[in-house]
Amino acid sequence: MRYCQTCRFQLDKRGFKRHTLSVAHRKAKLIRAMLERNCITHAEIARRIGLTRERVRQLALQMGFADGRSRHAICRMERRRKEMAEFFVQAQKRGFAVELLGTRNAYINGKLCIQRKACWHDVGKSEHKYTYLSIRQPRGRFDICAWKLPDGRFLILPRKLTGFRQTTFNPEESEHLGTASSSHYYRQHIERWSLLGRPRRSK
Ligand SMILES: [Zn+2]
Repeated sequence: MRYCQTCRFQLDKRGFKRHTLSVAHRKAKLIRAMLERNCITHAEIARRIGLTRERVRQLALQMGFADGRSRHAICRMERRRKEMAEFFVQAQKRGFAVELLGTRNAYINGKLCIQRKACWHDVGKSEHKYTYLSIRQPRGRFDICAWKLPDGRFLILPRKLTGFRQTTFNPEESEHLGTASSSHYYRQHIERWSLLGRPRRSK
């Protein structure tokens, strides 16, 4: 089998001169650039270049790119990763293997983890008014819920500690112990990554 020195595509028996006039040869750079972006399908490349989808599939194969189905899977994975909730990005950085289910839920060490957000919330009135963080009970299945705090840290609670509908807590040390409805002890669970078990690899 002979290959074109310029575009590296296979030469067919019609010869080199004929090949240099072909769309594949003239647009080889563009085809390669598009194939490198996994979210552009063979069909889309075919449409933009003016080739059949089958021809694009053959050229991709010759250039050593993954097949269409794999490219599609890689594309989906890349998209998910981009939208991945911060908690999972942080978990990965800490050496945990994150198996994404969606953008806001994933398995980590066999535990179903979800991410939610905590917001500032005023509790009490006048001189007894304090600003605490408010969290809501997540719906659906999960083993561990991580609430992202406004300062970027995470409150990480196991399911058994999430028996509230909505509650508040003070993320800082305070002399105001709060009431049953402002469960300050949650502070101990901020950045409690150990709840996920051991990372697969050390940092
Ligand atoms: Zn060529």
